[in-house]
Amino acid sequence: MRPLVVVLIVLFTSLAFSQNDPGVLEDPSDLPAPVLPVMPAPTVKPLPWQNIPEIKEAVVGQPRIGLYAGWTRLVFDVPKGSTVQVTPEGFGITIGFSGLQVRGGLALKSPPSSLSPEVQGWSLSSGPLGSTATIRTRYPLRAGGGGWKMLHLPAGLDSLNDRLVLDFSEAFANRQTLQAPPLQLFPFPVEVVLDPGHGGKDPGAVGSVMEKEVNLQVTHKVQGLLEAAGATVVLTRLGDTVFSDDKRTDLQHRASLGVSPRKVLVSIHANSLAKQSALAGYGVETWWHPNHPESQHLARTLQSSMLEWTSAFDRKVRTAPFVVIRNSQVPAALIEMGFVSHPVDGENLLSAGYLDRMAYGIALGIQRFVLSQAPVPSTP
Ligand SMILES: [Zn+2]
Repeated sequence: MRPLVVVLIVLFTSLAFSQNDPGVLEDPSDLPAPVLPVMPAPTVKPLPWQNIPEIKEAVVGQPRIGLYAGWTRLVFDVPKGSTVQVTPEGFGITIGFSGLQVRGGLALKSPPSSLSPEVQGWSLSSGPLGSTATIRTRYPLRAGGGGWKMLHLPAGLDSLNDRLVLDFSEAFANRQTLQAPPLQLFPFPVEVVLDPGHGGKDPGAVGSVMEKEVNLQVTHKVQGLLEAAGATVVLTRLGDTVFSDDKRTDLQHRASLGVSPRKVLVSIHANSLAKQSALAGYGVETWWHPNHPESQHLARTLQSSMLEWTSAFDRKVRTAPFVVIRNSQVPAALIEMGFVSHPVDGENLLSAGYLDRMAYGIALGIQRFVLSQAPVPSTP
């Protein structure tokens, strides 16, 4: 890039930042837009529908492949009643097809060029007990099911064969029904502030869901979990309302609730990117500000417990002077639960399983932080 262009970009970026009135900096959407390459339109090739005849021999052939914006689907058609074993590991998964041989030979594989933005390629080979397929992804799969999902569909009305359906996107998080113990009871009185971002005339980000609604929904779940553990929870808004339609007054009011003896203020948001770069934004991030010496610790604790329970993509802990966290007097953090603008992450935010997991991760993170701050009992 020529130096003049670089200087102009730097100048423009710093101007854009300084023009933001710090009194109304609310969440990442108020920061200068990230410089992202304009994404070329993805090659969308829907899954080829073939009237697959019944597979009568013990064989497995090459997968059918569907390419979509933000994700890729592979489908293996196998004889009715087949046993398959799927193992994720690192950059990909291995599938064992017991007792099935590769159709028409000992091995098959995809062409050497990359299959899609998500999948590098696949291969299939026969062994003494059956055959093995390997699918290589272009990103590491995450523990707990992050980065892919699977469906094993039995033969039925719409298919004469069993189908193993595998979907890949780095944005896939765990959407399974939450099974978790209740939080432990707090051993001392605890009061916390939860701030569901936006509300009233301000919807926040709009995409797969309306941000103000999903923020409130998750906040109520977190509230329920913390109250069941004996905490008192103060909300900055109770429904689809705001304290003031003047943004500065409203944000300042929310921040003013973050006072002692309350232990923390946690602001709950969802993210979005402009349409042309929407595929580049997915995952969970937590923001902090040095308003309090323990805010960074709070942000790290929240980020790690959210990832632990959702297997979402990690966009890390970041810092910015958003009003609500900057002006809180107690440790504060602002959470971004995912992108309403991404085709897969947007679906995460529509999933009850994902939202329950997110709420549990937030509540557990708050509890872990509060307990870590408790004074160590002195020994007499
Ligand atoms: Zn927001």
